[in-house]
Amino acid sequence: MITLKEAMGLSKEELTAFKDDLRQKIEADPELNAYIATESSGDGVPIAIKDNIQVKDWSVTSGSNILQGYIAPYNATVIEKLESAGLSAFGRTNMDEFAMGSTTESSFYGKTQNPHDRDCVPGGSSGGSAAAVGAGLAIAALGSDTGGSIRQPAAFCGIVGMKPTYGRVSRYGLGAYASSLDQIGPMTQNVEDAAILYDIISGHDVKDSTSVERDDGKVSDKLDASRKLTIAVLPEYIADASDDVKHAYEKAIDALKAAGHTIVEKQLLDAKYDISAYYITATAEATTNLARYDGIRYGNRQEGKNLVDTFVQTRSQGFGDEVKRRILLGNFVLSSGYYDAYYVKAQKVRHLIKDEYAKVFEHVDLILSPVAPGTANKFGALADPMEMKLSDLYTLSVNLAGLPAISIPVEKTAGGMPVGLQLIAAPFEEQTLFDGALSLEQQLDHN
Ligand code: GLN
Repeated sequence: MITLKEAMGLSKEELTAFKDDLRQKIEADPELNAYIATESSGDGVPIAIKDNIQVKDWSVTSGSNILQGYIAPYNATVIEKLESAGLSAFGRTNMDEFAMGSTTESSFYGKTQNPHDRDCVPGGSSGGSAAAVGAGLAIAALGSDTGGSIRQPAAFCGIVGMKPTYGRVSRYGLGAYASSLDQIGPMTQNVEDAAILYDIISGHDVKDSTSVERDDGKVSDKLDASRKLTIAVLPEYIADASDDVKHAYEKAIDALKAAGHTIVEKQLLDAKYDISAYYITATAEATTNLARYDGIRYGNRQEGKNLVDTFVQTRSQGFGDEVKRRILLGNFVLSSGYYDAYYVKAQKVRHLIKDEYAKVFEHVDLILSPVAPGTANKFGALADPMEMKLSDLYTLSVNLAGLPAISIPVEKTAGGMPVGLQLIAAPFEEQTLFDGALSLEQQLDHN
C-alpha cells in the first residue's frame, strides 16, 4: 500500500483509479469486515473514518442499532480539516458500539477480523480502522481513543496509532463517549504518516470548548530522529505482561540504546487504580452522553404506549448489552448516595495519576510502556466483561492524565502476531513524541 505521503503527490485521476481499485479489494474480502461502507466525501486522498465521526450526509452510527437511520447533517471539524488539506473521508470503519470495548466484537455490524490471524480480534474499539490499515485496505485512518481505542488495535494489527494530548484535536462532531477522555487521532502505516495526519487534524477550534488555544507549529516539518532523549522504562509495571510483550520490550530498549537514547528506570502507580478510576469516570460520562438517544431526536425509534414507554422501548432494543451495563454502572456511581464514594473518589485518584506522571516527566522526555498485556486474543476470549476491562490496564492512565502517546509495531511473535509498544510524552510534547517514535522505528528497521 502506498503511504499517505506518497498518496498526497497523486493527481485526481490517479486517486480516482486508486479508489476504484481499493473498493474492489475491500469487496473481495467481506469476512474481514473492517469497513461498514465505502462511500467517499470527495476526490481527495482517501482516509478511512471510524463510524463515530460525523461526515455530512453519511449514515453515522457509532456501531449501534440505536443510530440506524441517522444521517449526519454536518461535518466534524477533523473532516473539514481533512478536506481543506486535499484529503477525503473514504469509508466508515467498524467499531465497538459507542466505542465501548477492546475487541470490536460488540458492533451492531458483527465482528472484524484481525488481518494477521482471522481467528483473532483486531482490538478495539477502533478495530475496523486498524484492520483496514493493517490489511492494506486503507492508506490511513482516523480512530478515537478514550482509554486506548487507537493504540491497542494499532498494536494488535501491526500499525502505528497515535493519541494526541487532550485538547489538541477538536472533538466537534465526534460521537461522545466520555468527553473528558476522548481524542481523535491518526492510524497509519508509519510514524511519518502519523505526524502528517496529526498536523492536518490538530489545532484550536472555537466549536469545542475543551480545544486548546495554542499553536506549536507542524511536527512533520521538524521531525528529527537524531535527537538524543531520556526515556523511562518500567520494570515493575510490565510484570503483568505476557512473555511476548516482555520480549518486545527488551528489544525496544536495546533499539533505543543503540539509537543513543538514555534509558532510566521509573515506577508508576499500580494500574489497578487506573482501571477503577477510568471505569467510574468513563461510565459516568457515558451515561450522561448517551441520555440523548431517546428515539425522539436521532435514528431508531420503537413506538411505545406513551412517551416514557417510547424512551424505554427504544433504549431497550437499540442499545447492546455492554452499553446497557455501562449505563447502569454510570448511573450508580453518579447516584446521590454513592457519588462521593465512587465518582468524587475516582476524580481524586485521577489527580494522583496525573501528578505521578508529572513527577516522572520532570526527569525524562518519554516513557516506554506496553500497550496491551498480550497479542490479539481469539474471538470470545474476553467475553467476560470484567476480563475485558482488566485487559485495558496499560492504556487507561494516559487518557486519565490527558497525555499524548503513540503505539509502534516492534516485532512479530513466532506465530506471526504483531506486538506494539507505546511511547508516552508530557502534555503538548508531541514533537518529542514523534521524534522518539521515528527514532525507534528507524532503529528497528535497521536491525
Ligand atoms: N476499552 C476501553 C473502554 O471500553 C477503551 C475504549 C476507547 O478508548 N474508546 O472503555
